[in-house]
Amino acid sequence: MTAEHPATTTAAAAATTAAAAAAGSVAALDAALIGCRACPRLVAWREEVGAVKRRAFADEVYWARPVPGFGSATAPLVIVGLAPAAHGGNRTGRAFTGDPSGDVLFAALHDLGLATRPESIARDDGTELVGVRITMPVHCAPPDNKPTTAERDACRPWMARELALTGPTTRVIVALGAFAWQTLLPVLADAGWRVPRPRPAFGHGAEVELDHESGRFRTRLVGCYHPSHRNVATRTLTPEMLREVLGRAAGLAGLPATGAGADARGVG
Ligand code: SF4
Repeated sequence: MTAEHPATTTAAAAATTAAAAAAGSVAALDAALIGCRACPRLVAWREEVGAVKRRAFADEVYWARPVPGFGSATAPLVIVGLAPAAHGGNRTGRAFTGDPSGDVLFAALHDLGLATRPESIARDDGTELVGVRITMPVHCAPPDNKPTTAERDACRPWMARELALTGPTTRVIVALGAFAWQTLLPVLADAGWRVPRPRPAFGHGAEVELDHESGRFRTRLVGCYHPSHRNVATRTLTPEMLREVLGRAAGLAGLPATGAGADARGVG
């Protein structure tokens, strides 16, 4: 029987909450986030992966820290994934960068004019997002891509603060997969968004309109299958399906239609 790591200690959880709450900007939040060590199991895993490495990346220095969001803090379209991949984001230090899921996602974003390049391979590759920010509810790579519920909850203050800071300019949030969807709903509710009850179910293409209790903001939550290797290999999610949902989301977010796949923005 293996010893279990606690997801986090009470003191670490309190420190996470305080550090996230103290961030007055997304840049400050990202800077604080990358020093987080609240989850012992995930800290051990991300660092072990970074030390052992995959043979193909043996010459690289892995990031091996929490991976912050990527893209403008005022982007009208926010895409929320799951967690960094062990040899993707955990290696490169940037969300959906250097792994097969990122290849699929960035090809679609570029096709829609939402990324300047069709691939995302390294932090310094020059790729930029256009009107899009990508983030995730768990910022450290988990074993088997499966964070525990306790780890998800431990990371929640970072996402809650990020959404509070970006909320005034966010028009659409795309949740990549049921995990992101289910994680987002309570965070959005806590951040003052009126989330229907019973909570809306995740589905590919599902769409929920959310008003902020302040009456000043409105956003839409859109569901999309995660571009994981399994979903793509089984054709649960095809490039066309991904482009259709992202294109619709971009149109709803008011982003100008450019790129070869701009005609995917048929619903507004
Ligand atoms: Fe910190 Fe989140 Fe990483 Fe846990 S998963 S160590 S809370 S950044």
